[in-house]
Amino acid sequence: MAIGKLLGPVELRTAYEDVKNRIEAAAARRGRRGSDVVCVAVTKTATPDQIRQLIEMGHQDLGENRVQQLTQRVAVIDEFLARRRQLAGAVPRGTSDVPDKVRWHMIGHLQRNKVRQVAPLVQLIHSVDSLRLAEELDALGGKMDRTFDILLQINCSGEAGKFGVASPATIPLAEQIDSMMNLRLRGLMTMAPFSENPEDSRPTFARAAEIFHELRRDKIGGPHCNILSMGMTGDFEVAVEEGANLLRIGRAIFGDVPSDE
Ligand SMILES: *Cc1c(COP(=O)(O)O)cnc(C)c1O
Repeated sequence: MAIGKLLGPVELRTAYEDVKNRIEAAAARRGRRGSDVVCVAVTKTATPDQIRQLIEMGHQDLGENRVQQLTQRVAVIDEFLARRRQLAGAVPRGTSDVPDKVRWHMIGHLQRNKVRQVAPLVQLIHSVDSLRLAEELDALGGKMDRTFDILLQINCSGEAGKFGVASPATIPLAEQIDSMMNLRLRGLMTMAPFSENPEDSRPTFARAAEIFHELRRDKIGGPHCNILSMGMTGDFEVAVEEGANLLRIGRAIFGDVPSDE
């Protein structure tokens, strides 16, 4: 990983393949397949060129944590895909690895007054952390005649100042969300406290996995409640070992930018 700079096309491919191999290896250590783990490429430090290159490598899942950045990037990438589709007339269908569309993930804190802007653009909202936010989304779904897929963000570490529902409140809130007509509870998301040592994340991830299994055992959310989103650049292998099936990875794929940017 080249922290401290953004990666060019060749390095980007190498970094991406390295991440995929590390996911595969971590999954194999638990008798799972790497293909069962979805990697969301978090584009917050990426350039539009890097995002386009990643899509051309066949990658489909992209994540953003800020509303403004999300809406801008969705527009840029939509335009790119539309242009590709026009050109694709020349290329027989199915001969290209490039996906027709991408799936955007909202992974950052979402304010209720931004729900209307974000929900229609994304495949999955990872960061639902209160009843009021869930109600706002449900109401919007009712107006738009749509169902939104969401994850409940939980704060398993008890760290103050972090977004997320406290672990004891998770099951009751999940039950409330499960009763909402226009939301589909797909699972849980969590973040470990920042640390240089990936092993420090393990207890947080293990706790999230435990609550996830409780949800599934009690059939809260039903068969669609099958996503456990955890693991970032610094700790994604530990997350896979603890049962994550969706990772959110930024810097390990795109490189890093100096902090003044
Ligand atoms: C930025 C971010 C990530 C990715 O972080 P990296 O360390 O760059 O992999 C994952 N999840 C959330 C919620 C983020 O904001």
